[in-house]
Amino acid sequence: MRYRMIVQFAELSLKGKNRHRFIKKLRKNIKDKLKALDYEWPVIAIHDRIYVNVADNVSRETAKQVVHELARLPGIAWLSFVYWFNEQHYQFLLNKPELTALHDLLARLAREHYQPDHSFAVRVKRRDKRFAMKSQDFEREIATTILQHSDWQKVNLSQPDQTFYVDIASDGVSVHCEKIIGVGGLPVGSTGQVLTLLSGGFDSPVAAWLMAKRGCQTDFIHFTAGHQPLADIEQDKIVRTAKIVSESSGFVRLFMVPYTYFDLALMELDLDYDLILFRRFMARVATELMPLIESQALVTGDNLGQVASQTLENMESMNKSTDAMILRPLLSYNKQDIIALSADLGLFEVCREPHKDCCALISKNPRTRSRSYVLENLEQTHLANYQDLINETLADAIELTFYFGQLVNKQSIDRRIHGQ
Ligand code: ATP
Ligand code: MG
Repeated sequence: MRYRMIVQFAELSLKGKNRHRFIKKLRKNIKDKLKALDYEWPVIAIHDRIYVNVADNVSRETAKQVVHELARLPGIAWLSFVYWFNEQHYQFLLNKPELTALHDLLARLAREHYQPDHSFAVRVKRRDKRFAMKSQDFEREIATTILQHSDWQKVNLSQPDQTFYVDIASDGVSVHCEKIIGVGGLPVGSTGQVLTLLSGGFDSPVAAWLMAKRGCQTDFIHFTAGHQPLADIEQDKIVRTAKIVSESSGFVRLFMVPYTYFDLALMELDLDYDLILFRRFMARVATELMPLIESQALVTGDNLGQVASQTLENMESMNKSTDAMILRPLLSYNKQDIIALSADLGLFEVCREPHKDCCALISKNPRTRSRSYVLENLEQTHLANYQDLINETLADAIELTFYFGQLVNKQSIDRRIHGQ
């Protein structure tokens, strides 16, 4: 007996002519994730399903852990963990099939999945009619085994609490009884590329994840108060956050950009507009980076009314500073829903660590309303050489690359800007 996984694609019925492209992408993401975990197992797409054949020498515990890892990949509705009996070995299609191994497994699974007062059903699908017994007869035989060799007492064919599936095909027999629910959505890389402005709070990593769940490859840009030494950068809270997002979204780049030059220019001016000037500065620097990394939109963790500065007026002022499309997937979320998502994604602990973010560094009482012409005037007066400011800022950036939860590269950004 061997282990397999069945992967059911999410939202496939909506995909029409594109379904082949989406399945191909998901298959590749599954293969890449397995490779990142050091497993080179065959991943096969047949019709609307994907099958993963677990290698022979892998224990059930390890295989089950891998199923749960795969369930975090966007684009999967559910996965099943499958016990597979090879026809060549067991010869179920002979006149008198030897079914002891199947009965033994089902009795064991029934004991393992027993829940008091719940009901069960057995569903047999006979895809190869050479199998010598009718589906219903075999269902009855297995149900009897389960009743005799476990504590299950109630059979319910219309609405069972637990179903045991047996699928008889030409190449072998599959048994499964566990569905692991995935996150749904679309495979990462199937809908485009975005650049998320990542801060130290709960919101922006969740916003990035929501875009990844809709199929976007997501990169990050974070603005830091000072220069970060490359050597111990892995301890940084922001770096650990990006790394966790990459566990399920795969390829992720993080650009760490010191905002020293912006700070110097506005130092000691005590402008109550500095927060919104900072947002516009972040948007412009990020916009400059977008074509270099082929990003199609910026993403923020903005949430309407969450803090005093998150007003429609301030968001509009930020929009006006750039031609880039700015997406705000969390705009209408409730805070507790964002926190719950953050916990589901394994981000809660790292995001709750204290972080000196821009709000703490800049004005205590930020403006809640801002007029574009006032901002433009301030920028012309205090930030006269804006393009130089952007260039100098970006030249100091460092770029980190993650791949499924591993930091695979760190370098200063010059190479990218100067095309070396
Ligand atoms: P978060 O929980 O994501 O930190 P927040 O509630 O702290 O968000 P703000 O500080 O008002 O919200 O920032 C709004 C958005 O601006 C953030 O969600 C993020 O997308 C972006 N942002 C804020 N500070 C930074 C920063 N230092 N670097 C990059 N992006 C930032
Ligand atoms: Mg915050």
